[in-house]
Amino acid sequence: MAKTTILKTSLEVLYYSGASQALRPIFGGLGAIFMLHHVRPGGGHQMGFAPNSGLEVTPEFLDSVISFVKLRGYDFVSLDEAVQRIRGSNPEKKPFVVFTLDDAYRDNLVHARPVFRKHHCPFTIFACSAIQDGTCELWWRGLEAVIAGNTKVRAEIGSLKARFDTVSDMQKKAAWLQLYWPVRQLEQKQQRIWIKEFCDTNRVNLRAICRAEAMTWDELREISSDPLCTIGAHTINHYAVAQLSEADATYELVESGRRIAAELGKVPKYFAYPYGDAASASSRDFKLAADAGYEAAVTTRKGLIFSGHKDHLTALPRLSLSGGFQKLRYVDVLLSGSAFALWNGFRQLNVA
Ligand SMILES: [Zn+2]
Repeated sequence: MAKTTILKTSLEVLYYSGASQALRPIFGGLGAIFMLHHVRPGGGHQMGFAPNSGLEVTPEFLDSVISFVKLRGYDFVSLDEAVQRIRGSNPEKKPFVVFTLDDAYRDNLVHARPVFRKHHCPFTIFACSAIQDGTCELWWRGLEAVIAGNTKVRAEIGSLKARFDTVSDMQKKAAWLQLYWPVRQLEQKQQRIWIKEFCDTNRVNLRAICRAEAMTWDELREISSDPLCTIGAHTINHYAVAQLSEADATYELVESGRRIAAELGKVPKYFAYPYGDAASASSRDFKLAADAGYEAAVTTRKGLIFSGHKDHLTALPRLSLSGGFQKLRYVDVLLSGSAFALWNGFRQLNVA
């Protein structure tokens, strides 16, 4: 059984058995930080070969999540307010939710902001300098574009030499599954050289993909002028910082903050680690983020926020509202904390 199928099955069981409601007081914690990337019509529901659809939700789904958590009695708060609550962890207060969006895609401005404004809901966008410059190699998009646009694909990654027929959607998916992790796990700078060559060979314009997807700095200035919006940093080059030397990781952390301060006139207080899983953001990086002056930083480790996180503010977990989990009952179970308790072996903190 695929991993997502197992995760979804456990969510269904927890929901329909009523266990999630029973366990909410024990595992519900102080609140949750939601993670989004793209918000756009069709998001996550494309048919056929759409391997990155897990990064997308529809504006309607975002709207329904906000209405739902409001009904459940959660406070929508800014990251500033959330951090204050974690520091003080006032048990009298209602649980909170924070909405965060990584990479600063244009659809955040076009499709997500109207929904947040409708509900007067604060949100944080983590901007990545090279993405806003329109020069970042969004390798997962380039890989998708090459496979989508060709009926045969050749790839050489280290010792892997592969040729794929990519006529049908099923063949395209198979090629994607074979290539995604080998590319993701390449040394970070090598990965960008590889994807540039791969896209050039297959006549895919990687820069054009970035420019089409990303907010420009002007657009980021526009959205950041909204009082509901907080801008955080997300590195210069969207590298997995744990894979870099300490000097290179420090550069990515510090310079991305400086660049945002120079562009927007405001020093960012928060940071999100690209990819954000344990292999991409390690305990060394949690310390580097604090040393770089960030008050808090978010990972993609799965979990809710507990008072114990006050000592680990640069290693906060998040709850992904990804395409694959676009059902309110999943959100309900995830917010109860029961699923994370199960997946994390009943640990509240996963910060090592
Ligand atoms: Zn990112």
